[in-house]
Amino acid sequence: MENDHLSQKQLLDYISQLRQNIETLEQEKADLEILLEVIIYHGDLVESQLQQSHKKLKAEIQQRHLAQLKLQASQEHFQSLVALLSQEKNDLELILETTIEHSNIVEESLHYDSIHDPLTGLLNRRYLDQVLPQVFKSAQKTQECLSVLIADIDHFKLFNDKFGHKAGDIVLKLVSQTVQSIMRSSDMAYRYGGEELVFILPNTNIKMAEIIAEEIRQKIKNLQQEYSYDFLTGITVSIGVAEFPKHTNSCDDLLQLADRALYQAKAQGRDQVVVIDPNAIHLF
Ligand code: GH3
Ligand code: MG
Ligand code: MG
Repeated sequence: MENDHLSQKQLLDYISQLRQNIETLEQEKADLEILLEVIIYHGDLVESQLQQSHKKLKAEIQQRHLAQLKLQASQEHFQSLVALLSQEKNDLELILETTIEHSNIVEESLHYDSIHDPLTGLLNRRYLDQVLPQVFKSAQKTQECLSVLIADIDHFKLFNDKFGHKAGDIVLKLVSQTVQSIMRSSDMAYRYGGEELVFILPNTNIKMAEIIAEEIRQKIKNLQQEYSYDFLTGITVSIGVAEFPKHTNSCDDLLQLADRALYQAKAQGRDQVVVIDPNAIHLF
């Protein structure tokens, strides 16, 4: 009986204990529910923040992508501009080169025209006036002799009267061609006046100059044999010759002495070569 009574008490204790446990559990459950609510609320907050950051990031990526595309487009545009400019530069360089080439050709041709006689192709008198003092100076410096020849077509006025000016021009051309074929590379042939030609022979003494003058005279006398114009028959030249230093030490005198010898050749009957007579120089 006492045993039954104890066990009833124990049971009541146990029940009370259980009630306490239930209360504690209920309390814990309520706490957990609050905690869960808080966690859920915070989770939403974190998620919405994450979503916002994600959106921001996405927008930023899009912006960067756009900027990259723009940069790429402007890079391509820049590259095509550079290619265009380099093509234009090449074109301009080509134009410049061609212009320089042309202006050189024009300059050369102008220079050629300024020193040559258009009818005969020989050098002109203006150029002789320029060159002779230089050649003379150089001969003085190197102590080499220098000879000058002056040739004049005989009775050319009569020829023109008889055969006409055109035939006269042909004679002038053929005479010039002939003397040019005899000239050595260092010699220079000039048209001095109407039908007068001057030859400058550097490093040539009077003996050699006389031989060359004689060759010119004979070749011109025989022009008709080489070219078949009938009017060439009877064409002759007279030639005067002088040498530096044998006859003079002055450049001006050298040409005048050769002219004096030419005058002598004309006076002696034409168609001949005359070397200036050293004895006649003082009379000059
Ligand atoms: P000489 O033997 O004394 O030299 O007599 P010449 O008749 O040759 O000399 P002159 O000085 O009296 O006459 C030169 C002539 O040369 C006059 C001119 O008709 C001729 N002449 C000059 N230049 C030219 C030219 O370019 N063409 C032609 N066809 N004749 C020219
Ligand atoms: Mg003459
Ligand atoms: Mg003359």
